[in-house]
Amino acid sequence: MLMEGKKGIVLGIANKKSIAFGIANACREQGAQMAITFLNERFEQKLAPIADDLECDGRLYPCDVSKPEEIKALRASLEKDFGKIDFIVHSIAFAPKEGLEGRFSDISKESFNIAMDISVFSLIEVAKELKPILSDNASILTLTYLGGVQYIPNYNLMGVAKAALEMTVKYLAEDFGKDGIRVNAISAGPIKTLAAAGIDDFSFMLKWNAAHAPLKQNVTIHQVGNSGMYLLSDLSSGVTGEIHYVDCGYNIMGMPATVEDENGKAKLAWNGES
Ligand code: NAP
Repeated sequence: MLMEGKKGIVLGIANKKSIAFGIANACREQGAQMAITFLNERFEQKLAPIADDLECDGRLYPCDVSKPEEIKALRASLEKDFGKIDFIVHSIAFAPKEGLEGRFSDISKESFNIAMDISVFSLIEVAKELKPILSDNASILTLTYLGGVQYIPNYNLMGVAKAALEMTVKYLAEDFGKDGIRVNAISAGPIKTLAAAGIDDFSFMLKWNAAHAPLKQNVTIHQVGNSGMYLLSDLSSGVTGEIHYVDCGYNIMGMPATVEDENGKAKLAWNGES
């Protein structure tokens, strides 16, 4: 029971396929108590049974991170429920569709600002607002993707947002480190979720990653969940400012071998030619 006695808040569960659900469930299995949030009334009913599964005991709160008053209200609710909390999971991202397709240079300023606000600034705002109720060795976790450090087709605007998010993790880690609070990110491999459905040709990305990752498969929310639980638990008490890849090893591949011969020897081929 690695999370026994720990209390926290999980933002970003849309359904049971969400990465945040994988993390929340892993924490629950290890004894954590938590509250979860929903974006608006449309999602409240959908999330009620999930909150039950996570044993939230009615702690299901609205929080649209673009509304500062909702983040403030969330703090008040958490303070009432728990007094202090030990972990925050920030598993939220959004970019208007036009930022996830077509030519990168066509991105509008409006879309850019929305993506940065929801996907990056929200981490700073949530962390700052909840800091007074964070326990001395609290842990904050967010989610990023390889598209923030390397070009990934169609990831466009979200790639720039993830780059900013990863640096936000490092600056926040230094800032909050003085108070014993840790801030880390998991860079997850591609997983079929609602948010991922907004990215053009996502099914091809899944196939490509499974074919070229060292483990020859795609990562699951269960695997990301367990790694997330580790980063939220005291097992990782010496880890902060880290971008931890949970992607079946895909990020280490400079040039994947496209075929293997009958002896398992790597070969390069393209369009049937080697
Ligand atoms: P998801 O299930 O769709 O979760 C995204 C969550 O963000 C949803 O719960 C969504 O709420 C929430 N959200 C969007 N705008 C919000 C706002 N203004 N206020 C509060 N919540 C808001 O998709 P996911 O794939 O698990 O995404 C979680 C995180 O993992 C994201 O940061 C994503 O970039 C990252 N990630 C995903 C992958 C992948 O391949 N799936 C890989 C690496 C990293 P609603 O659904 O209610 O709109």
